[in-house]
Amino acid sequence: MSSRLGDTMIEPTIEFEIANVDMNNGFPASCDTCRSRQPASGETDRQRRVEVNWKHLLHTAIESSAHGLCVFDDQSRLVIGNEQHRSLYSLASSEVSPGRPVEDVLKGRHARVVGANANGQLSHYLSAIRRGEEFQTTYELQDGSFVELDMHPMSGGGFVERHRDVTELRLAEVRAEEARQELIEKQYAIDQAVIVAITDIRGTITYANDRFCDISGYTREELVGNNHRLLKSGVHSQDIFRQMYRCLARGGVWRGELCNRAKSGQLYWVDTVITPQLGPEGKPVAYMAIRVDITARKKAEAQLCHAARHDALTGLLNRAALLESLSEWLSQTQAKQQTLVVYLLDLDGFKHVNDTLGHAAGDALLKQLSGRLISVVPETALIARLGGDEFAIVQISAGDEREETQALSVDLLQTIAIPFAIESQQATVGVSIGISIAPLHGLTAPELLYKADLALYRVKSEGRSGYHVFEDEMRSRAQDRNQLVNELRASVARGEFELHYQTICEAGSLRPRSAEALVRWRHSSRGLLYPDEFIGVAEETGLMEALGRWTLERACSDAVSWPGEIKVAVNLSPAQFRGGFLFDLIIGVLMKTGLPPHRLELEVTESMLLQDEEENLLLFRQLKNIGVSFALDDFGVGYASLGSVVAFPFDKLKVDRSFTSELPSKPASRAVVASIMTLARGLNVQVTAEGVETMEQLQFLRNQGVDFVQGYLLGRPVPSDALDLTGAPLRSGLPDASCFKK
Ligand code: C2E
Ligand code: CA
Ligand code: CA
Repeated sequence: MSSRLGDTMIEPTIEFEIANVDMNNGFPASCDTCRSRQPASGETDRQRRVEVNWKHLLHTAIESSAHGLCVFDDQSRLVIGNEQHRSLYSLASSEVSPGRPVEDVLKGRHARVVGANANGQLSHYLSAIRRGEEFQTTYELQDGSFVELDMHPMSGGGFVERHRDVTELRLAEVRAEEARQELIEKQYAIDQAVIVAITDIRGTITYANDRFCDISGYTREELVGNNHRLLKSGVHSQDIFRQMYRCLARGGVWRGELCNRAKSGQLYWVDTVITPQLGPEGKPVAYMAIRVDITARKKAEAQLCHAARHDALTGLLNRAALLESLSEWLSQTQAKQQTLVVYLLDLDGFKHVNDTLGHAAGDALLKQLSGRLISVVPETALIARLGGDEFAIVQISAGDEREETQALSVDLLQTIAIPFAIESQQATVGVSIGISIAPLHGLTAPELLYKADLALYRVKSEGRSGYHVFEDEMRSRAQDRNQLVNELRASVARGEFELHYQTICEAGSLRPRSAEALVRWRHSSRGLLYPDEFIGVAEETGLMEALGRWTLERACSDAVSWPGEIKVAVNLSPAQFRGGFLFDLIIGVLMKTGLPPHRLELEVTESMLLQDEEENLLLFRQLKNIGVSFALDDFGVGYASLGSVVAFPFDKLKVDRSFTSELPSKPASRAVVASIMTLARGLNVQVTAEGVETMEQLQFLRNQGVDFVQGYLLGRPVPSDALDLTGAPLRSGLPDASCFKK
């Protein structure tokens, strides 16, 4: 059945209604015009013309609408549906042919609708139609578009539908919702990550987020209403706050790192941005502070900084930090005309602790020692470990610096002399202290340290374990020493040395059995120099290896021309032991000179053997295997340990000159010699007494059963060509052993 538009309306009304279709968003103001009816019989031509015209106009109006429009009659049959409607739902013309019942049309449309409730929507809509109620819904279509449907019932029956493509609107809404959600999430994340506080211009807290409560340890109630000063740490100077307030008062944004104090008293660091909230007059009315917790970073920075400035073992300042602090202190004390004292400490005997008890024990001693330094030195002083067993103390003098240096030095000497207990063992070290004073001795850190070092050197050269304040004359000595080092280097290169030999005789027969090689330096201007003047310097400057090599070679080649039963005794130095080439060197020299190994005796001191004991023992055995013999020199002085006498297969012990010289009058020396003899017999080792100068000494030593004697009484060291190895003059001039027998 076809629907027809009513024909009762007069043209102006129709025009008005058509105009209204667009004016009212596509809906006719009244629906009377759309009432369908059957054509009445006896219609006039004019009436028909009007109707055709009317239909045409309405049709054109509906088709030209921007939206989809459908008009249904009072039987809910489609009167007209426009092209937009068809294309919105992709409907075929047959699905929306006039006269179709609304259910058909809806079925066609709903076939394109997505969503589980499409059917529910359908029944809702049909019941709204039945009840003549307005209805609105939005369909999501399978092609991804959204169509909004508005249904308006008409007063005389029937209804009009408007279908509007709201895809863009919907997508914009979706995007807006997504953005809103993202913002909420971001805000949440910010709230979780940063500390937010709002204060009024007086600093009274008006808002605190959860993070602020967490980090400060205060509840929100405790924070809000309280002044932000509550969190003041006392770490910053007033300057930083003054600068902050000035910036904020100008309406600027302030940023900086601040330390705050939590309720527990713990400090925490925050990177802070404070923004003023400006009022209508452009003046701040509140401040918003956003803070990020940087405590962990600050801790890491502090640790790094601490590690860069402190010695890892003792926790004291290191050399770089001392130099820096000393320079700062110097400029401060200069301005205030104060006196500053630098103490340089060097332990005596520390190497021995390391060598005998091991490095772990050495470390433990250094730790204990730094604790002792802290307890003795005034709290205001700087204490640093400069490396190894070297320490420094810097103190600002409060009164008479000479008295103070004396008092502190004595304290240090006494405190450090107390034995250290290290894992059930005891270790003892001494200390040498060199002192310089500012401004008297200098105004810069390097100069003061250099002068304290010169004073320290003096203490060392005077036998250690003492203290000295720098004196100008030390500098000239140091210069002399420098000159000596340069000359020694040149002389080693040019071979300006000589060997003198001193005989070592059998104690009973006084027959020479060997001769000890003693090195002399033929100095171009100072004449003949003795080893005490240059051996130490050669050791310290690395020249000893070359000098030692020369000595060994010369001694062996000299000895080749001596009577076959006479040995040559050569002193070895610690530097030669450390080099690791000693075995090769000795073999090389013996081969080169042709001296049989059993004619070479090496003299070593106990301290040389303690380092790398196992390696040295191996070297010992290798050399002994080829026939070289060993004497333990200077026995009885320096080290209390008898370990090496037992551990190393020595052939001889040499009783130190200091004991011989006190014989026979001094009971202690007599006792030492007697006990050395007992030990030597027990170990089956022979004994040489050095420094025999008098007949009484010789007599005592013979009585004790000493095997060999050496000393001025029997012959001074002389050049090889002046050496008499027959022993004839000796035996003729000196009484033989039988005279001393009791
Ligand atoms: P030393 O090995 O104990 O040598 C003995 C020192 O005592 C020698 O001094 C010798 O001249 C001295 N002397 C010998 N008899 C007497 C005496 O009756 N009375 C006194 N008062 N002194 C006596 P020198 O030659 O000055 O050597 C000193 C030290 O220098 C030596 O002590 C030794 O440790 C070292 N030395 C000497 N030559 C060499 C060498 O070629 N290489 C190494 N590494 N050290 C050497
Ligand atoms: Ca010697
Ligand atoms: Ca000696």
